[in-house]
Amino acid sequence: MSADARPASDARHAWSQLARQDPARRSAPDRIADFLEIYGFYDEVAAREQASRCVQCPEPTCVAGCPLGTNIPEWLALTAEGHFSAAAQALQAGGNLPEICARVCPADHLCEAECVINGQAQPVSIWAVEQFLNEYAFAHGLVQPDVAPPNGRHVAVIGAGPGGLACADGLVRRGYAVTIFDHRPQPGGLLVYATPEFHLQRSIVERRVDLLRRQGVNFRLADAEAEHTPLTLLLEDFDAVYLALGAKQPRTLDAPGHELDGVHQAVPFLLQAGTDSAAAKALVGGKHVAVIGGGDTAIDCARAAVRSGADSVAVVYRRDEASLPAMRRDIDAALEEEVRFLFQAFPISFIGRPPGVLTGLQLVRTEPGPLGADGRRWFVPTATSFSLVADVAFLALGFDPAPLPADSPWQALARTPQGAFQVDARQMTSLPGVFAGGDLVRGPCTALHAVRDARQAVAGIDAFLATRTDSSEPKER
Ligand SMILES: Cc1cc2nc3c(=O)[nH]c(=O)nc-3n(C[C@H](O)[C@H](O)[C@H](O)COP(=O)(O)OP(=O)(O)OC[C@H]3O[C@@H](n4cnc5c(N)ncnc54)[C@H](O)[C@@H]3O)c2cc1C
Repeated sequence: MSADARPASDARHAWSQLARQDPARRSAPDRIADFLEIYGFYDEVAAREQASRCVQCPEPTCVAGCPLGTNIPEWLALTAEGHFSAAAQALQAGGNLPEICARVCPADHLCEAECVINGQAQPVSIWAVEQFLNEYAFAHGLVQPDVAPPNGRHVAVIGAGPGGLACADGLVRRGYAVTIFDHRPQPGGLLVYATPEFHLQRSIVERRVDLLRRQGVNFRLADAEAEHTPLTLLLEDFDAVYLALGAKQPRTLDAPGHELDGVHQAVPFLLQAGTDSAAAKALVGGKHVAVIGGGDTAIDCARAAVRSGADSVAVVYRRDEASLPAMRRDIDAALEEEVRFLFQAFPISFIGRPPGVLTGLQLVRTEPGPLGADGRRWFVPTATSFSLVADVAFLALGFDPAPLPADSPWQALARTPQGAFQVDARQMTSLPGVFAGGDLVRGPCTALHAVRDARQAVAGIDAFLATRTDSSEPKER
């Protein structure tokens, strides 16, 4: 039966008659043989059925749960009725980089966690309907370069991660000329050089970058000039600057033995696994691997180690399973791929043998402690310790903003005690005309939050330039 021939469900009751069904994923033995995406997509019938599980509540809690405030019920209703083009257009028009956000969005912690049918049934599979609509939009030519007539203003965006790309997208849609600088040769930030392709294929980012180029965004890649240029000089060439440099200083673990051969940071390994599989296999092939952490980086690293031929992979996490910040669908996929999880365990030392080679980790059990300032419960060490055999240990403990070099021309910007740039509600730094957002300001966060900040900054830049009373000429070139 074609999707359009199918009668529309009664959206208010479909959830009680129809179970949530996520798109099929490839079998574990099949998918660990490569780095490709593991999920398929809904067909039109499945998309309609699953979208019809939305109850269309009058005050949609899913929207409140989305950092971007996406109007989820609107496109779910249109999908349930089979109006795919209208649904896809609503989704594309309402966001920046929606097809990227949908792939990496931790929906189970955000919109789906807030879905009103939780507790009575599985939440609506919002992420999967969104994926379906995004691919529908591209397949049917509904995604076209979106630009406004030039307004004569020129903005420099420094950093081509999701935050920088979203800022550029928002600005060209308002008529700004935009130049993006990045010192790496490829745009996409962490989503390209750290996130493995089974999580987000490069081609998806490249497709969006191609669209941005067609919208007129000028990319200056492999270009370190901007970071050595005083911001006041940049402001002579550009009407405003958006800093989206990310937080690139990986956190370390100063436990005894951390200098042993075999202890590595997770992100360089992820980069290697994505670009030089022979080197990644040489590092972990046939080895016992321990990954310390519980976020996306840890789970991605563990699954990349499996694909690179590790003999065993264990994720060591100091909190309990319910506290894992990674996405549930990734955790389930990791479990299917035979990644082992050691919860409530924390390494107190790395064990080695001469001449300084890692052989294992000494771990201590943790137990729930007081609530932290962030509202999350601390897990504190107990007296129980045990060991874990490991030839390779990856640290996936998050990132901090990289300290600026002492001679950096950006030293004058006000910073928080943690080293992040201080911004106001418009994302403007202490230097008028210079805005900042994403991981650089928040510390390690999500691509969605980077997009959210970028959106805020686009509005902020627009408002700032509209009200500026000085006589500066627009700087479009
Ligand atoms: C392994 C891994 C998996 C992740 N998985 C997810 C996920 O599933 N979902 C999710 O939402 N988030 C995920 N994240 C987090 C997400 O990638 C980040 O929150 C997001 O990329 C931050 O975006 P950003 O634009 O602020 O910074 P970044 O993505 O870090 O981009 C910063 C850009 O600035 C450039 N740059 C830095 N300094 C300079 C300079 N001085 N001059 C010029 N260019 C510079 C960098 O080269 C980079 O391209 C993951 C992170 C990692 C490491």
